Amino acid sequence: MVIRNLDAVVSQPFDFIVVGGGAGGSVIANRLTENPDVSVLLVEAGGSNEGVLNVAAPGLVNFLVNSAWDWNFTSTPQSALNNRTLTVSRGFILGGTTSTNQMVYTRGSSEDYDLWANITDDAGWSWDSLQKYIRKNERFTPPADHHNTTGQFDPNVHSFDGIVSVSLQGFPNEIDNRTIQTTSELNKEFPFNLDMNSGYQLGIGWVQATIGDGTRSSSAASYLGPSFISRPNLHVLLNTRVLRVLENEHQQSDFRTVEFTQDGGVTTHTITASKEVIISAGTIMTPHILMHSGIGDSEELHSLGIQTIHNLPSVGKNLTEQPIVRNKWLVNSTHTLETIARNDTLLAEVTREWQHSRMGPLVDPPLSFIGWLRLPANSSIFQQVPDPAAGPNTSHYELIITNGALAQPAPATGNFLTFSTSVSSPTSRGSITLNSSNPLEYPLIDFNLFSTTFDRFVVREAFRNTKKFLAAHSWDGYILSPPTNATTNEELDEYINQNAATENHPVGTAAMSSKSAAYGVVDPDLRVKGLSGLRIVDASVFPRLPAAHTQVPVYIVAERAADLIKDAWGISKEDTA
Ligand SMILES: Cc1cc2nc3c(=O)[nH]c(=O)nc-3n(C[C@H](O)[C@H](O)[C@H](O)COP(=O)(O)OP(=O)(O)OC[C@H]3O[C@@H](n4cnc5c(N)ncnc54)[C@H](O)[C@@H]3O)c2cc1C
Repeated sequence: MVIRNLDAVVSQPFDFIVVGGGAGGSVIANRLTENPDVSVLLVEAGGSNEGVLNVAAPGLVNFLVNSAWDWNFTSTPQSALNNRTLTVSRGFILGGTTSTNQMVYTRGSSEDYDLWANITDDAGWSWDSLQKYIRKNERFTPPADHHNTTGQFDPNVHSFDGIVSVSLQGFPNEIDNRTIQTTSELNKEFPFNLDMNSGYQLGIGWVQATIGDGTRSSSAASYLGPSFISRPNLHVLLNTRVLRVLENEHQQSDFRTVEFTQDGGVTTHTITASKEVIISAGTIMTPHILMHSGIGDSEELHSLGIQTIHNLPSVGKNLTEQPIVRNKWLVNSTHTLETIARNDTLLAEVTREWQHSRMGPLVDPPLSFIGWLRLPANSSIFQQVPDPAAGPNTSHYELIITNGALAQPAPATGNFLTFSTSVSSPTSRGSITLNSSNPLEYPLIDFNLFSTTFDRFVVREAFRNTKKFLAAHSWDGYILSPPTNATTNEELDEYINQNAATENHPVGTAAMSSKSAAYGVVDPDLRVKGLSGLRIVDASVFPRLPAAHTQVPVYIVAERAADLIKDAWGISKEDTA
């Protein structure tokens, strides 16, 4: 239940306190409260997702970045990108970034998870071991328009009775046939993949999205949906910002108390869990909370006047992000996103259609197809650096095909095809550091994008390949002009430097490592190394970024984490609620 009265919280004992109600936190809150004897307090900085139209209607997603439901972070100047700062979007609402994201459902390649198992020395993180958690999470559903989906996905690799709804596109686009035809015409370079979520990701396939009945299925709408959030043992405190976790006065290295504020720090309160605190505040804010709590690199903390309670130098390091260039091709069509986006009357019309029947163009996010591709094995870059992908079946780069410009507001004139290119196995690493000792101030977010020759090489080659894709006959008469006439490395670099952004998939700032490793922030069971009472369950624990959009990997991690926590405390795994 949503708590309105703070006194009711402060005077109540809770077994677990979960910090952050996004992808990771919602799963933990749901799974632990399956047992009615277990009490959980979920603390979320943002407000409720209930009744927020732009969140619920998939086609209105472009209105969410830089909105009141966004933390609105900004990166530090990126030296490889003409010192530009970049928008860093994160959901500030129940459901976290699953309430504001583009809803793409991708798991990554099987090799990504097998690599995690290797790094952590825990076979439980391997692709095969995680299958039951993938299935607990997913509920594959028919698309909004109920068209025949034969040949658009492989039902054998999906689950139909999990929690988060997943579906294929529910409103056809003009580019659909052209894209599919290109996968036949240029089959060798751009093969069709029936289902990129089978463990074998390479090729081009239809987007699957976390949508059911034409409506966003965020972690708030699914794991905290009406039948779950009403559980008497689940307490949800909204508009409440956690500042720090505090060490037990009577037991060294034991952290089960959270300090929070509801009024911008004017007053602060504390509450203690009898069993554990689980931090699920995401890749940016989880290390921020840890560092303000005195858990981090002692030298860095000392320089800001924060007393180190536990020296853990890896906190905030290893920040990994997929850089993306959203290449906009001018097209000979009026059937693209822009036509609706810049016409208020039309937008109101399709919004009414969505509200009345859950049909029409707003049932889908803007993206239609995704491709996961590799550089050729004889690529010159491999004479300089080893292949960083998790294995030979894992992509180096991603192509995202969108029927329109992804920008909000839409460009004033012209109709576009956006063919985004991103580095799916990047080798650049950045960091989250503190700006000051004030926990209400935002941290410094330095992605350090394109700090390696590999990332730069890949994004150039990816762009060159989009040109090959769009030169296929299937696009004859459709493409009017390219986003740039750049062809040489130097020209392309200038274009990239002006246009690259983040794909909004940051991970790795509180990474897992094996129990014996001297680096890392959490053990393979997601407990903070060297401490008791404190676990982390969100994208920050990824030791490596899977070649995927990141919400599904977080769901998978959180589903397993819930079982790890239940095992640790002898909590029954049967759903007794
Ligand atoms: C614009 C955009 C588009 C994206 N598109 C996709 C996509 O199509 N497919 C995909 O797979 N992934 C996508 N992602 C990424 C994906 O949504 C995230 O990887 C995923 O949600 C991360 O889960 P998390 O649990 O780590 O963090 P989040 O889901 O961000 O949850 C963290 C929660 O903690 C709360 N919080 C933070 N600090 C505090 C604090 N101090 N006190 C209390 N609460 C706090 C936040 O408000 C938030 O609710 C996108 C992201 C963005 C920004």
